[in-house]
Amino acid sequence: MTTTHLDCRALDTADALRPLRDLFVLPAGVTYLDGNSLGPLPRATAARVAKAIEDEWGRGLIRSWNDAGWFDLPQRLGNRIARWIGAGQGEVVATDTTSVNLYKVLSAALSIAAQDAPKHRLVVSERSNFPTDLYIAQALCAERGYTLKLVEAGKIPHALAEGVAVLMLTHVNYRTGAMHDMAAVTSNAHAAGALAIWDLAHSAGAVPVDLRAAEADFAVGCGYKYLNGGPGCPAFAWVHPRHADRFWQPLAGWWGHAAPFDFTPEYRPAPGVARYLCGTQPVLSMLALECGLDTLDAALPHGGMQALRAKSLALTDVFIALVEQRCGDASLSVVTPREHARRGSQVCLARAEGAYAIVQALIARGVIGDFRAPDILRFGFTPLYTSFEDVWNAVEQLRQVLASEEWRRPEFNQRNAVT
Ligand SMILES: *Cc1c(COP(=O)(O)O)cnc(C)c1O
Repeated sequence: MTTTHLDCRALDTADALRPLRDLFVLPAGVTYLDGNSLGPLPRATAARVAKAIEDEWGRGLIRSWNDAGWFDLPQRLGNRIARWIGAGQGEVVATDTTSVNLYKVLSAALSIAAQDAPKHRLVVSERSNFPTDLYIAQALCAERGYTLKLVEAGKIPHALAEGVAVLMLTHVNYRTGAMHDMAAVTSNAHAAGALAIWDLAHSAGAVPVDLRAAEADFAVGCGYKYLNGGPGCPAFAWVHPRHADRFWQPLAGWWGHAAPFDFTPEYRPAPGVARYLCGTQPVLSMLALECGLDTLDAALPHGGMQALRAKSLALTDVFIALVEQRCGDASLSVVTPREHARRGSQVCLARAEGAYAIVQALIARGVIGDFRAPDILRFGFTPLYTSFEDVWNAVEQLRQVLASEEWRRPEFNQRNAVT
């Protein structure tokens, strides 16, 4: 059965989440399918940050650390993120970047493994994991005398066979959109005597996550993707309470001290996840992240993650179906798994020739996705604001770009620094 433009409009009319689109500033003429790289600007953010600058910083000055509640922002936002990732209250802090948080949790995990399973000397990850995750793991393995073993996704159970200290994976693959079964993989890791660290960069706010039910050990995630916190806003870290007090994280700064304002010369880590803080936090960015979390929480009365997930799967199903029905391009293949349980909230297409240029031609037509080397066209679908009409339009523009071969024009073939 084919899907028509009218079908897409009917799906929008029936969509209970549709009013949430108004929470965002989305420029006219833009179909934004890149919220998995940088979430769009919530309407409330500019005024909130302006107030923080003018009133809280401008007039409140240093008093605002107490009076405006700046000091406990990492915990307050962490507690709000917790509900979207199946974590408990007091288990999450919003802080630093995903890369830095990964360094902290992997270091702590290696310290635990050194004590509980000293003969296990491998860290296992997926070869197609996001590079920063792999670079951080390489650095820490070199520092601590471990070996990083990279395997294809299908080979993870096999790789767990012996001597694995830590399995470190990204839940939803940034390139392909393929999603791991967190509970099953974590359980396999534990059975092999390994700890499991999950990167939720493409999961938090995008797909159902239940860290506690999966019995995961550590997790990190990103604030500026599906949490809509703005460019470079803080990421987050979660540590299972069974591990939180066992080791220091390596960046033992004063914000992770049990009593930072005692100014004692000796480090004494704060109880629980608070020790995963390091230094003074970027308050303005954190307030922007708070506005991003408001946009997600606005989905709660409409069914929360269950409703978001149902719409995300419908959007990605329609996109896949339309690409196949309408683009008529045999060299374009769908890389993202069709099975719902294995799909994140994005769809990736592969094309051996012209993938970068096709994305540039689409951007020139107002359809913003992105290119991921070497051959991936990546489209993120965010049920808070993506409509079925957006999906129709994106595929229609893609069809035209392919049919006209417009992507061959020289201006679409020049590489920018950020793809
Ligand atoms: C986006 C992303 C990051 C980003 O890390 P930063 O430290 O914010 O630059 C890390 N890991 C994964 C899997 C990502 O998708």
